[in-house]
Order: sequence, then C-alpha cells, then structure tokens
Amino acid sequence: MEIGRNIFLFLVISVVVMSSGCVQQNAGTVDDGKVNVIVSILPQKEFVSSVGGNHVNVVELISPGASPHTYELTPGDAINIENAEIYFRIGHVAFEKAHISRIESMNPDMLVVDTSEGITLREFTESEEHEEGEHDEEHDGEMHEEHEHEGVDPHIWLSPKNVIIQIETIHETLAEYDPENAAEYRKNADAHIARLNELDAELRQTLSGISTKKMMVFHPAWGYLADEYGFEQMAIENEGKEPTASEVAHIIEEALEHDIKVIFVQSQFSTETAQSVAEQINGVVVQIDPLAENYVDNMMRVGDTISSELGN
Ligand SMILES: [Zn+2]
Repeated sequence: MEIGRNIFLFLVISVVVMSSGCVQQNAGTVDDGKVNVIVSILPQKEFVSSVGGNHVNVVELISPGASPHTYELTPGDAINIENAEIYFRIGHVAFEKAHISRIESMNPDMLVVDTSEGITLREFTESEEHEEGEHDEEHDGEMHEEHEHEGVDPHIWLSPKNVIIQIETIHETLAEYDPENAAEYRKNADAHIARLNELDAELRQTLSGISTKKMMVFHPAWGYLADEYGFEQMAIENEGKEPTASEVAHIIEEALEHDIKVIFVQSQFSTETAQSVAEQINGVVVQIDPLAENYVDNMMRVGDTISSELGN
C-alpha cells in the first residue's frame, strides 16, 4: 500500500511539473488542432477513429498485451491523460473502477464519456462467474461500493450490436464537441455502422450452423458474443483467480460430460491451466483475442476460428 501511494504522489508531482513548464507532448497527443482522445482498450481506437477520421488523435491507456483487469497507470499514461480533451470509457472494467477518480483528478477539464450507456448489460452465469474485483480490493476503501456490481460482465464490446451503440455515443459526443466537422462525423459513423451490420450478419451465418453450442474458455470474455449467437460459455477461471485443484477436477468432469475438445484462451492470461485441462480431455488450446486493435477484421477471424474448431 505504501509503495502504491508513493508512486501515485510521484505521478501527481510529475504531471504538475510537466504542465507548469513548457508544454511537453506525447507522440500520440500533439497540439495539431485535432481533438485529443483517450480510450481504455485497443478496440476502442478503431471505434473512435472510424468516426473521428482525420480530426482526432486517439491513444489507449491499457497497453497491448496487458489485461484491463489488472492494469496500473504509467507515467506515460499520465501525460496522455493530461493532454486529453475527451476520455471514452468502456465502462465496468476493473481498471476503470479502480482508477477513474484518479484519472478525473489528473485532468478535471477532460470530458469523460461512458460508452456502456444504453447497452443492456449481462451478468455472469454460474458456469462463467468470476469476480472482477480481485485486484480492486488492493485499493482500500474506495472500492467497496463497486462490489455490489460484481456480477456484471464488462466485456460489452464483443458483440457488434453493442459496438453500434458505442459508435452512436462517440458520434454524438464528437459532433457536439467539434460541431464544425459534425457532418463528416455523421457520414463516418454511418459507414462504420454499415460495416458492423455486415460483421453481425457474417457472424450470425458462420456461427449458426455449429452443432456444439458449449464453448469452454479460460477467461470469460465472450459472454455477449455467446448470448447474441446462441452459445453457452463455460469458464475455467474462477472469480478472476486460477481455479483450485478440486475446481479443475470438476471442470475436467464437465468438459468430458459435454464432449468438449477445445479450450479458448487469450494472450493476456497464462495458458498453463488451460493447457493442462486440455491434455486431460485429449483436447487442444486455441487462441482468440478479445483485445485486438483492428476490431472488425479480428471479429471475422474469431468467428471463423470458433466455427472451424467447434464446427461439424
Ligand atoms: Zn476480461
């Protein structure tokens, strides 16, 4: 705790020193007349640039390869936050719950927009439940009220229909903030929504013919996708933690019972446990990425991978 507080003080002091001297700019957010935007995760970069086009600079807070469940702010993030005019939150991820008040206090002038607004949230089911708050508990008193919402699945962006709602929110925000370019933002948003509707149709077609409707994953990121296209997600991870030996034994039993042969993993988490479960069910581990930067292309790939692994 003591170390964490000192790093925070260091961050606050660095930001004050940097902003009181001559303006020091990060590569992602230069003073070029464009709207400086920050987002939490990489897929959101595509969402914002597809609407903002040449009129926005977008940088992400959570670096490629890092997990939104455990990420800590770096001094580089502090500079980006200081320079940002708009922060599009993904909403509900543990990283934001833990850091939002700190982020807001670093730049009180920044417009903070929660892009989960208007999206119907799902709760984790019993076979995929994990608590997002394992890491949050390290942040003393400030997290307690968030625990009431611990059953909410934060992975809203993994259904294209939810992304369309996020695109509308991004459009409204940019059009209001920078009315001079509003017509262009509308045109861009419509074009990207058309792409997302194509993606939705493609996924519906790819995934509808699959007979195996149970999808086993290590980390339960794919609940919104599963709900939308008629799957059931089962998770190995338990409440954000590695499962115990007896839980692993139970998972193996379930996998054998449902004839599961594939365990989907992502690079942001260790694959060791998934690998060992796969060996014991004579199955394989397959990687799909919920956090890739090129969202539409990646989701096409995800659909193809799921369909070829679980398909007929
Ligand atoms: Zn996750």
